[in-house]
Amino acid sequence: QFTPAARVQRIRESPSSAAANRVRELKAEGRPIVDFTVGEPDFDTPQHVKDAAVAAIATGETKYTPVNGTPALREAIRTRMERTSGIRYHDSEITVGGGGKQILYLTFTATLDPGDEVIIPAPYWVSYPDMVLANDGVPVIAPTMADNGYKLTPDALRQAITPKTRWLVINAPGNPTGAVYTAEEIRGLADVLAEFPQVWVLTDEIYDEILFTGIGFTGFAEAVPELRDRVFTVNGVSKAYAMTGWRLGYGVGPAPLVAAINKLQSQSSSCPSSISQAAAAAALTGDQSFVTESVQAYRERRDRAVELLTQVDGLRPVVPDGAFYLFLDCAGLIGKRTPAGTSLDTDQDVTLYFLNEAGVAVIQGSAYGSEPFFRISFATSVAEIERGAAAIANAVSRLS
Ligand code: PLP
Repeated sequence: QFTPAARVQRIRESPSSAAANRVRELKAEGRPIVDFTVGEPDFDTPQHVKDAAVAAIATGETKYTPVNGTPALREAIRTRMERTSGIRYHDSEITVGGGGKQILYLTFTATLDPGDEVIIPAPYWVSYPDMVLANDGVPVIAPTMADNGYKLTPDALRQAITPKTRWLVINAPGNPTGAVYTAEEIRGLADVLAEFPQVWVLTDEIYDEILFTGIGFTGFAEAVPELRDRVFTVNGVSKAYAMTGWRLGYGVGPAPLVAAINKLQSQSSSCPSSISQAAAAAALTGDQSFVTESVQAYRERRDRAVELLTQVDGLRPVVPDGAFYLFLDCAGLIGKRTPAGTSLDTDQDVTLYFLNEAGVAVIQGSAYGSEPFFRISFATSVAEIERGAAAIANAVSRLS
């Protein structure tokens, strides 16, 4: 009989993958479902990026590459990071992998010993706690408050730190709230970190191009260059260039950490796909108008979703400054009864009610460590957003 290792038993399947599978099943049964669960752009990968991949195939760029990526991709990452953060990373400070997700995972594999703690502000992206658990670490969840825009405060950070803390995870623009830290807010956290040299910062900036604030994005390393030797920045091409299926992400930061990650890569994946690397280099160095245009579309969708869902009694949307998700407080629905007489006791109940009664798939806030909320992805057309919002409004109106 097969028994998975303890590390597998400690973790759960990603709730977003589980929700996506459920939607697929229902659609296969012929039910029209408005799918608000997807965490990926609905746009196609830009043509010039696809062309670069085809060219790579045609010219025989089809072999193993260096573990830390092709020189062309490393140069593209270096130039990109210098343009956006003003920091110039050396080759020894750049690693590439099969998605930002793999880099994040390997960061924990490379650094956590049993019992080491990782501070994760909630609401968080679903994968962080399980990645920590799978790598023998202990996730320490630090709640954030609506009053602070769902951002970690210096006081909350200080309270979460123990002698076992190894990492603070920061994700901005954040999934699921879209929260973005200002340079000043980052410096406030850095003041606390200055007292605890054993705590490093893992900053997931995968949504940094998808920004609605009008003021530019400030990365963690950019805001506090004096912490450069303990800030590791993860990014990738999935979200900004609609390249989720190409599986290409990267991390930039301290050379000893990068060397440890590369060592793990050398014994696991060897390198990401050479073709995806060529495509990613083209995405990072080529025409950026796709980014500008898609962000404009996300902004319109965000505004429409916020406008429609604000009008629904019992829902309070958290207006996001970036990324393509809307997190909604649904405390106003808890305790209500469905037409069938079932009581909505948790956000999981609310999510199920929307799926079964309104044909709208959303993800419950408990998956992100905050209840009672739910998340919708607005990486879908305005027409779908309007259809889904109307169905939600109708389902809510039938509660008593
Ligand atoms: N980080 C966050 C916050 C995400 O939401 C995602 C994808 O959903 C990722 C990282 C992973 O992106 P990828 O592995 O496609 O680069």
